Parts: sequence; C-alpha cells; structure tokens
Amino acid sequence: MGEKRLMKKLKKERRALKEKKTMKERKLIKAKKLEFEARKIKISIDYMRCEPAQKNTVSPRCGFACVKACRLYGRNILKIEGNRPVLAVTDPEEIKRLDNECLSCEYHCGMQGTDCIQIKVPLPGIEEYRREVLGG
Ligand code: SF4
Ligand code: SF4
Repeated sequence: MGEKRLMKKLKKERRALKEKKTMKERKLIKAKKLEFEARKIKISIDYMRCEPAQKNTVSPRCGFACVKACRLYGRNILKIEGNRPVLAVTDPEEIKRLDNECLSCEYHCGMQGTDCIQIKVPLPGIEEYRREVLGG
C-alpha cells in the first residue's frame, strides 16, 4: 500500500474512533443514573444529584470521593469518565466476581458528596422474621 493511501486510511480510522468516542460521551451525559449489581447488593448512582455530573466539572467539592473509596477499600469497580463516576468494569459477571460489597462508595458520597449513591442490601427472610418474632 502506498504511503498516501496508508495515511488516508489512518485518518479515516482516527475520525471513526473520535466519532465513536463522542457518541459514547453523549450517551453517558444523557444517562440519568448508573445501576449495577454485585452478588448480594444493588448499587445505584443518581447522576441528577451527583455534583460533578451536574456541574460538568473536573474538580468537584466531593473530590470524587466514591471513586477514591472504591480504589482504597473496594475493587476498582468505579472510575471517572465524562466528569462522573462510571463503571471501570463493565461485564456484569465480572462485577459480581470482583466487587467486595464494602459499601464505601455510598458512605463516602454521604460524607463528602451529595448522598446520591444508594445501596440496597436485600435480607431474605426479614419479613418472615418480623412477622414471627417481632409480631409486625
Ligand atoms: S461497594 Fe465497594 S467495591 Fe462495590 S462499587 Fe462500592 S466501593 Fe466499589
Ligand atoms: S462522591 Fe457522590 S457526588 Fe461525588 S462524584 Fe461520587 S457520586 Fe457524585
């Protein structure tokens, strides 16, 4: 292949890559929340209340506390992209395998952020327990 043709091909590939990236970013910005599951818990991040996502800033007051906490105490499930916390691990099965369910992202968002992370921890049998033992 001639040098000119090769350069043209490379340019085309680069343009396609850029367009793909922009589409991904646009999709990300449109998303109102991020939801994912670990083995026993369900995690949800409300982007409508997340400071950097709303202000589109690289230096929010919270300092991306959730992502830092996930790196320190969790398993690097979260990363920063498009000025918001997103999944660093995208395969749902891989998330279930890796996530240590430390709850740190929720705690640190509550302490330093806008309290927009909610983790649901289903407790099977709790309703029966309430009825039988607590009578209510
Ligand atoms: S629960 Fe822990 S490991 Fe899972 S996303 Fe939150 S900080 Fe990361
Ligand atoms: S700590 Fe809370 S407010 Fe800050 S980036 Fe994480 S989810 Fe958003």
